[in-house]
Amino acid sequence: MVTLSTSPEQPTLDVFAEQIDRRSGRLIVLAGPSGVGKGTLLKHLLQRHPDIKVSVSATTRRPRLSEVDGQHYYFISRDRFNKMISRGELLEWAEFAGNCYGTPKAPIAAAVAQGQRVILEIELVGARQIRKNFPDAKQIFLCPPNVAALEARIRSRGQDSEAAIARRLARAKTELAAAHEFDQQIVNDSLETALAELDAAILS
Ligand code: 5GP
Repeated sequence: MVTLSTSPEQPTLDVFAEQIDRRSGRLIVLAGPSGVGKGTLLKHLLQRHPDIKVSVSATTRRPRLSEVDGQHYYFISRDRFNKMISRGELLEWAEFAGNCYGTPKAPIAAAVAQGQRVILEIELVGARQIRKNFPDAKQIFLCPPNVAALEARIRSRGQDSEAAIARRLARAKTELAAAHEFDQQIVNDSLETALAELDAAILS
């Protein structure tokens, strides 16, 4: 079973980075502003392709009501997150709206070693780190049809404070301005069309 942390007997985490590097064509980054619908789209994609792995990130954010530890995220303390950074256990990480988010290396290395495609659903700063370290990874950006739709979606979750919503919207504008950095942009207007485009991009 793949665990979040590496065991003490594992000599160096760079082994994982090397393993991933050799198969980095199997990595797919799906970025796009918070609330754009990355999670929903991925849920549908996985129904079509159960063989694809979606990375489970570590975060210091508190779980939302419907979220399950180990399934949606590994919900961990800031202290533990800092230890993961200093031990080199994260493939990339970033701060977002007051919390930290990062991709654990070990499960990704295990999946790509088995020939699996792996999707990282991450924000812009992390996507840039992946692009720099793994230029063969495919980079896809999901755009909202417009900013009003994005705001409505963030609000509809009903679990973020006004301040958190404002932080997410401000960050969304920065992210949208960077959409051109990605190999491909998909507009999430109709779920069906966006899903077909994502499917084609991933399998190409
Ligand atoms: P949320 O709090 O809405 O679940 O996520 C906030 C943002 O963090 C989203 O844009 C999401 O894609 C991004 N995110 C989730 N996991 C990671 C991660 O491991 N690394 C980075 N860089 N961003 C992440």
